Amino acid sequence: MKQSFSSNLINWYDENKRDLPWRHTKDPYKIWVSEIMLQQTTVNTVIAYYEKWVKIFPTIQDLAQAPIQTVLKQWQGLGYYNRAKNIHAASIILVNEHKGILPKDPKIIRSLPGFGPYSTGSVLSIAYDMPLTIIDANVRRVVMRLLALPGIADTKQDAQIEEFLNKVLPGRRVGDFNQALMELGAMVCRSKEPVCTICPVVKYCKAYKLGQQEIIPQIKKKIIKNIQAVIAIIKKGEYYFIQKRPSKGLLADLWEFPGGKIEEGESKKEALGRELKEELGVELKSSKHLFDVKHFYTQFRINLSVFDCVLESEPKKDSTHRWVSFKDFTKYPMPSGSAKIIEKLCLDNN
Ligand code: SF4
Repeated sequence: MKQSFSSNLINWYDENKRDLPWRHTKDPYKIWVSEIMLQQTTVNTVIAYYEKWVKIFPTIQDLAQAPIQTVLKQWQGLGYYNRAKNIHAASIILVNEHKGILPKDPKIIRSLPGFGPYSTGSVLSIAYDMPLTIIDANVRRVVMRLLALPGIADTKQDAQIEEFLNKVLPGRRVGDFNQALMELGAMVCRSKEPVCTICPVVKYCKAYKLGQQEIIPQIKKKIIKNIQAVIAIIKKGEYYFIQKRPSKGLLADLWEFPGGKIEEGESKKEALGRELKEELGVELKSSKHLFDVKHFYTQFRINLSVFDCVLESEPKKDSTHRWVSFKDFTKYPMPSGSAKIIEKLCLDNN
């Protein structure tokens, strides 16, 4: 089985794989960048980010020398900003301790910031053809169907999936094999309506034989929270007041307008007054609603009600606060919600 399973899969991949920019390189650094960007983010979104990134930071050395704020700015909009911080921190370690080269040793790679079992396996197998298995959401779904495993697709299944992958892993072209499995999950063995009629490994698939490909794995219903928040636009001439988020937690170290969540029972204006007092120690004199902006994150969706605010006194200013003009917004990495607000302010001003 081992040989025909892997050769069927790799042959299918050779003929059907999508033409993606990171598939044209063998540079381990660029493969690493693409693999980290592709975690939690769709291929279509990643393409433009990847192409821009490898132009701005073409080598590990270029990335290591860049200030973290520049790196975060290039990541703006991709989300999960720890990925950018980790890739930057790892590049500095690689330059200082490994001559700017990604070593072939999985133990060293695994010890670098941001490398888990998946990214270690994917980068080393794709860049160096090392015999390492990988399990991402696509691989997990495909193998659960091949083996007709019961339950939801979570890490509890990984021991059995790993055992299967070790049995079918080919002796060569391991990187292509791993990519082929992920590609099969993305293009054919999709979570909804898998196209089994064109599947290169249909003859090995237990779920297909049982007619259960649509119900394996079981779906866990996601609960998406709705959050209401208020945002304060504070102006001084042509300058806007922004602040830096704390270095830990959600959207750490990004810049944003002051504001925050509306608490239960609070009106928008009450929330605005409270947030400005808590965050900046200032009293709100008057406010005018400008517009609302919606943004979707993986775990929640947020509605940002944006207000033009006049304060009783000027807000405090330290290293985590700035007055910036429109053209200077481009220097500050911001969450997507804030970037949408700037776009809207820009449109309204023109
Ligand atoms: Fe997935 Fe269908 Fe192929 Fe089985 S036969 S691996 S369910 S696409």
